[in-house]
Amino acid sequence: MALIVHKYGGTSMGSPERIKSVAKRVAKWARAGHQMVVVPSAMSGETNRLLALAKEVSPASIDAAAMRELDMIASTGEQVSVGLLALALQAEGMPAVSYTGWQVPVKTDSSYTKARIESIDDGRVRAELAQGKVVIITGFQGIDEEGSITTLGRGGSDTSAVAVAAALKADECLIYTDVDGVYTTDPRVVPEAKRLHTVSFEEMLEMASLGSKVLQIRSVEFAGKYRVPLRVLSSFTPWDIAIEEEAKSGTLITFEEDEKMEKAVVSGIAFNRDEAKFTVVGVPDRPGIAYQILGAVAEANIDVDVIVQNVSHEGRTDFSFTVHRNDFQRTQDLLKSKIAPATGATQIIGDQKICKISIVGIGMKSHVGVASTMFRTLSEEGINIQMITTSEIKTSVVIDEKYMELAVRALHRAFGLDAAEVAEG
Ligand code: ADP
Ligand code: ASP
Ligand code: MG
Repeated sequence: MALIVHKYGGTSMGSPERIKSVAKRVAKWARAGHQMVVVPSAMSGETNRLLALAKEVSPASIDAAAMRELDMIASTGEQVSVGLLALALQAEGMPAVSYTGWQVPVKTDSSYTKARIESIDDGRVRAELAQGKVVIITGFQGIDEEGSITTLGRGGSDTSAVAVAAALKADECLIYTDVDGVYTTDPRVVPEAKRLHTVSFEEMLEMASLGSKVLQIRSVEFAGKYRVPLRVLSSFTPWDIAIEEEAKSGTLITFEEDEKMEKAVVSGIAFNRDEAKFTVVGVPDRPGIAYQILGAVAEANIDVDVIVQNVSHEGRTDFSFTVHRNDFQRTQDLLKSKIAPATGATQIIGDQKICKISIVGIGMKSHVGVASTMFRTLSEEGINIQMITTSEIKTSVVIDEKYMELAVRALHRAFGLDAAEVAEG
């Protein structure tokens, strides 16, 4: 008998019919003798609806007091889901009980809207499992030291599920979603994308951090830290498919590098439209200028991603960096009101119409010329590269948003990922 954690995303929980199908699938696993813990997301569209409601009453909810209330509101979607799923399981004749994050409790820090899980108490969950019940725990939410409800950031139910699996030392965590695994790139953008049977933890970490929203990055970090066996698979297969078949479907995240396995140079392409670029024009090129700009940005709790400083011209230079698009207005205000006067910058240029495209692959460690193939491919399509950043297993470029799909498709082809069979990472 194994202890298994299932996570179901918003589309998988999207209607009463879908919830009944989830209940049948979970009951099948429980009847096969497994102890089952299920972490569902809010029904699809629900979190967006709740946050839109909040925006209607308060368009600029950004201070700590307001963020606390946003979490109070956004967390309710998951509370509805766990109750519905418990009811559906009971209707299936399967004993089930639901818990919110605060009831478990799932303890987090107090960074509302992007809280981090600090600990999970497994006592109540284990007691319920011992009584033969399926335990259903809300995704996305927790509780801080003061007793306030927190949420873990968009897509955070993945992280809840993996963290619960780690706390319970589960045998496996299965992430059920609306695609049947992790693909070479988003299959909704590139129909030729191929499913990977396995993907290394390192590659998955990069892909998640670079925009492949199939797994929230923190869930991958947790899986790595606690070695949680993790698989991404579809909730849209027939619920009564044989467990043995289901258990080996989808994509397995692997932790050990298999020396014999041939490594694809590029395993996947990630992209995101979540960032905005700022250029601080005409700052004096002297020691400390980067700190003067980015120090102030960091102090305002704004995360910076890609950074580029141009060569200087007559003692002055331009300094560009990207931030999350949600932070656009705050960053612009800060640059104009404080940083420009302090540094003597002549102009602040903000651009929200950018995207970041990244090629990811463990094979890049031992191959040269990968980045140049990327640059050549983009130049052949007439796409201008605005910024570049690299690490051992990825190269990212920032380009004009309107070329995003064209660029992803061209790179997918150029790195041989359109081919019928792709080597596994
Ligand atoms: P859920 O609601 O189940 O959490 P998400 O919408 O958060 O689902 O994530 C699944 C989606 O991630 C897919 O529908 C797909 O469009 C997108 N996606 C982006 N990159 C990839 C990728 N490399 N492989 C698979 N899906 C991807
Ligand atoms: N419901 C939350 C969201 O939409 C969490 C999740 O689905 O993972 O972001
Ligand atoms: Mg998700």
